[in-house]
Amino acid sequence: MTTRHAACSCGQLHLTIEGESVRISTCHCLACQRRTGAVFSNQASFRREQVTFTGKAATWNRTAESASVVTFNFCPTCGSTVYWESESFPGRVIVAIGNFADPSFPAPTVSVWEESRHPWASLPPDTPLTRTAKQGRPHHI
Ligand SMILES: [Zn+2]
Ligand SMILES: [Zn+2]
Repeated sequence: MTTRHAACSCGQLHLTIEGESVRISTCHCLACQRRTGAVFSNQASFRREQVTFTGKAATWNRTAESASVVTFNFCPTCGSTVYWESESFPGRVIVAIGNFADPSFPAPTVSVWEESRHPWASLPPDTPLTRTAKQGRPHHI
């Protein structure tokens, strides 16, 4: 089974993850843009039992447009948001792909909140993706 490691910038907050992600997505919403400082967020979802947590995390809760609460876990020393949990996805741990620091990590297959995507931030046109506006309503391009 594949074992992957995700960590914050300073390394004290560290996840060890067994097996593959159940969902890998890109989010273009404005809240993710503010949280990451990047123009979109990339994340992989795992079942909680796949994940071993090491180190200290501080938390911040945000209520999503769906009214469910998302709890972000970030390193209190360096500030990297490594993972989060959402009431919409009980039993799942969602990990920021960048924190794996692994260019061979599988690509996202779902893209959400396309309406607030920066026009230059597009995936290659030959990428066989199902794209989604907000949550749900998939359409193929
Ligand atoms: Zn850190
Ligand atoms: Zn978002």
